[in-house]
Amino acid sequence: MNAAPDPARLSLNTATVREQWNLAQMIDACARHEIRGISPWRDKLAELGAAEAARRIRANGLTVSGLCRGGMFPAADAAGRRAAIDDNLRAIDDAATIGARCLVLVVGGIVPGTRDLEGARAMVRDGLAAILPHARASGVPLAIEPLHPMYCADRACVNTLDQALDLCDELDPVPSGDRPSGAIGVAVDAYHVWWDPRLPRAIARAGVARLLAYHICDWLVPTTDLLLDRGMMGDGVIDLRALRALVEAQGYRGAHEVEILSTRWWKRDPDEVLRLVRERHLRCS
Ligand code: ZN
Repeated sequence: MNAAPDPARLSLNTATVREQWNLAQMIDACARHEIRGISPWRDKLAELGAAEAARRIRANGLTVSGLCRGGMFPAADAAGRRAAIDDNLRAIDDAATIGARCLVLVVGGIVPGTRDLEGARAMVRDGLAAILPHARASGVPLAIEPLHPMYCADRACVNTLDQALDLCDELDPVPSGDRPSGAIGVAVDAYHVWWDPRLPRAIARAGVARLLAYHICDWLVPTTDLLLDRGMMGDGVIDLRALRALVEAQGYRGAHEVEILSTRWWKRDPDEVLRLVRERHLRCS
């Protein structure tokens, strides 16, 4: 059994309490619950404004483990693809304003009305290539988050860590004997990758320079909703402690970001949710 995690690495992804609180309330709650990190979604950030959010985050001394999310590159025509790229450039600016450690990318799925998976993946690659220079210049690493294959059609046609790393290697080649630049890497979300038999090898392949974010929750059995039935750590079947050992073995010392999209937990008192998040992070991850 590995050691318990460092409580200072706990970070709150705002999706976890998104139905109960606005971002200002979440920032205050992190201080109240001694949670040292936060990762806002852009809808919450837009409500408060990035500059005001940055001020409050700094005032509370929080680390911003990521901004969720950019991506969604595939579109039916050139104008749609351009709009997606522009939106991602704005997201990079917002991530820089709040001092986010990375911009998390959910890359998008198949263009509605088509069967063109290969085309969607090409649009993702082209979209990433288009925004990478601005990300580099802004000092905001891009974190490709592979999503579970059940989301391939509508949310992300990048579905394994190896597939995400192939994109990183193509767009940000590593000179032999050198380290990756750190401008692009991956977000390892336990919920999306836990099932993958190649996961240990893929995490080792990523190495610390490409491991930009680590998201945790649990996989419930049965799962009753494909999107909004994620579990609290310890309530499901993912060996989160073993997974953390894999990322830490590579030298990852970033946040453990709790991201629970769940209609069950959104009905609960958010202070109670955060108390349990802290407890389960220590005991079950
Ligand atoms: Zn995630």
